[in-house]
Amino acid sequence: TTALDAPPLGPMLDDIVSNHRPQRESGSVPANIPSLAGVPFSRFGIAVATAAGDVFCSGDADVPFSIQSISKVFTLAMALRRDSPGALWSRVLREPSGTAFNSLVQLEVEHGIPRNPFINAGALVVTDHLMDQTPDAAAALLDFLTAESGPGGPFIDEAAAASELRNSSRNLALAHFLKDFGNLRRSAESVVENYVRQCSIMMTCRELAQAGLFLAREGRGAAGAVVTRSEAKRIGSIMLTCGMYDAAGEFAYRVGLPGKSGVGGGILVIVPGQCAICVWSPRLDTKGNSLAGTAALAELSDRTGWSVF
Ligand code: GLU
Repeated sequence: TTALDAPPLGPMLDDIVSNHRPQRESGSVPANIPSLAGVPFSRFGIAVATAAGDVFCSGDADVPFSIQSISKVFTLAMALRRDSPGALWSRVLREPSGTAFNSLVQLEVEHGIPRNPFINAGALVVTDHLMDQTPDAAAALLDFLTAESGPGGPFIDEAAAASELRNSSRNLALAHFLKDFGNLRRSAESVVENYVRQCSIMMTCRELAQAGLFLAREGRGAAGAVVTRSEAKRIGSIMLTCGMYDAAGEFAYRVGLPGKSGVGGGILVIVPGQCAICVWSPRLDTKGNSLAGTAALAELSDRTGWSVF
């Protein structure tokens, strides 16, 4: 592994911002989330939170953005840490989907058991599972993220959540499918409503890197164990195989690290034992991953040698 200060990380991140901040509009924004259309295409931020406790930032690292599916990493951690062994895993698989994040097809083939917790169907099951103990799972997620990243930071953009909810036919369809197969305890509407609020949490790159650091530190968070060392390893494994929609293979090839992206343009990446990285740039490729963010991470991993391989 490469020492964090050789070459110096701060100047390297500045370099990455100047190499990757979009100069002209390209890529897309998701059609079902009206609030994301207004985010300027030229936004680009990056933050690295190290196991030693330093945070290096550059670009728009302190501008809040919608975390969207990155929330799925944290709700999975929350579900696992107080789960009776195996209870969640009887309801959701751990295999890459190879289809779009909001695909209905596999759910029918697999009889209502989602392929993994990082596609929408899987996250709806995780949400339903969490709601057994915490009826407002989104508020519990916000508390968790705040505890890990510092007070006053993360917040739920309730207006964005409300507008996404009005465009949630597909997620409602997934939830009704799950319900029909007996894999949802609550109503489809209540689970989707809570899930959309989780996705609408606003955080900065700096905060997300800090919040994800427990995964680079064998499960140890800001104030003690968040999950066990084994669970941290397993969450990282699921990020590597399932974290980038149906481009997990391409991302592993280019970046070589476990990551989770969201359609807000953020990507959270873990370098086990070393650091957590968050990059954000809002325009997406055809699979739903940040265009500039993925390119920046490929450069960062090449220049630092950070990789799980
Ligand atoms: N709230 C988004 C949806 O359910 C999240 C999608 C994503 O980031 O993958 O469509």
